[in-house]
Amino acid sequence: MKLLITAGPTREHLDPVRFLSNRSTGKMGFAVAQAAAERGHSVTLVAGPVSLPTPAGVARVDVVSALDMLAAVEKLLPDQDALVMSAAVADWRPKCTSAHKLKKSGMNPLLELEPNPDILKTIRPSKGKRLFVGFAAETGDPLAEAQRKLVSKGLDLIVANDVTQPDAGFAVDTNRVTLLSNDEPTVVLPLQSKLDVGRTIVRWLENHFRP
Ligand code: C5P
Repeated sequence: MKLLITAGPTREHLDPVRFLSNRSTGKMGFAVAQAAAERGHSVTLVAGPVSLPTPAGVARVDVVSALDMLAAVEKLLPDQDALVMSAAVADWRPKCTSAHKLKKSGMNPLLELEPNPDILKTIRPSKGKRLFVGFAAETGDPLAEAQRKLVSKGLDLIVANDVTQPDAGFAVDTNRVTLLSNDEPTVVLPLQSKLDVGRTIVRWLENHFRP
């Protein structure tokens, strides 16, 4: 299979030194990429700004902002069999970005934002037979939110996790996730390494891919 995987946060710059972002470190997406490459799949990883080495055998494209990530995904998708969107895409970007460092004295303390496009919803018309996997990192009711996103984003599988737990979610090597799909029972996985979660997602894709 040819797999496109996104990972990490996006950065939405106000100026060359300041940006809006989030706590994602890219570990989950890099683990999916490693698991897929280990199984012999052709893997392209679109990575936001992270400090992780590229897994062996994986082609990597680095991006900064949500708009950069959307452009990379739109360009690469036609050649893929499946997309795994594990990136934590910033929902908002500053309305104005300065090419020069803003002076504190000249800055407006009220930051004007505009919404970023939802990458999954934007590319949905080009999905075709491709499998789309999303993630839902939640602090409230992970399963209800994930179920809503499975439908609203037109996904085949969504991987839900509660990011308030210290051993799961952002910046750790383990995760505790639940897999929700459209026509199969929900699968609750115990705490395990992100690499093992990645292996489970890759197995799911192998079992559901129809060439
Ligand atoms: O941020 P949210 O909980 O909506 O993310 C759910 C899924 O949607 C994730 O797979 C994420 O990569 C994707 N997403 C996206 N474009 C955005 C925000 C999120 O594709 N602008």
